Amino acid sequence: MKALVISDIHANLAALDAVIADAGSFDAAWCLGDLVGYGPNPNECIARVRALPDLLCVIGNHDAAVLGQLDPYTFNTEARRAIEWTRDNLTEASLAFLESLPERADTLSAYADLGNHVTLVHGSPRQPVWEYLLDTHNATRNFEFFGTAYCFVGHTHLPVLFYYRDSQASARPVMLEEGMCIAMSPRAIINPGSVGQPRDRNPKAAYILYNLNEETVEYHRVEYDIQAVQDAMRVAGLPGRHIERLSGGW
Ligand code: ZN
Repeated sequence: MKALVISDIHANLAALDAVIADAGSFDAAWCLGDLVGYGPNPNECIARVRALPDLLCVIGNHDAAVLGQLDPYTFNTEARRAIEWTRDNLTEASLAFLESLPERADTLSAYADLGNHVTLVHGSPRQPVWEYLLDTHNATRNFEFFGTAYCFVGHTHLPVLFYYRDSQASARPVMLEEGMCIAMSPRAIINPGSVGQPRDRNPKAAYILYNLNEETVEYHRVEYDIQAVQDAMRVAGLPGRHIERLSGGW
């Protein structure tokens, strides 16, 4: 059984559709938040995600800001403009879906017979909406904050896996490379990177396929029509810096 693991779609429908097509067949979809913010198609992205099979989805900081649950002034000026634009353009149904999202989800109730279970959060298990897991020190501390073997996180838009063994003083990072298939055992925190706004200087959309039986992840990148998204962002009047960064992957 396979789960498509996606994060930080940021209203980029072309990237999301390319990921879904490239992933082929999967049994479940796990979405790690930030469905909206930055991109031109928030309603369409929410509709696409809602239609995925056996969906588990958590809220991200941009989703929370659009709902007024976070102070927009904690974001930089351009991100705030994108959040305001998104709020003005979301349908009632889209807002209701974002409002229904929890800060944390796991596979315990949905897949009772799994060997090892998975926790899903946007930022980190310690601070699900806000904390950025960027270094080994913080990753190590965060292993205390989830009870399952594995945890998927998003938020940094940087693909990485942190392994941890209780006997070790610190977690060990592994940079993910396209096409890699890697075991999660014994414990791991993994970030699939971003679908709609990669920030590792690789503009291709990022995602993971998780094999629930073998407990392995396959890491993928896929090209999509970046220029079409940039054109749609220009028409919508979204900030120029966000348009520019899509083609550079920063
Ligand atoms: Zn994000």
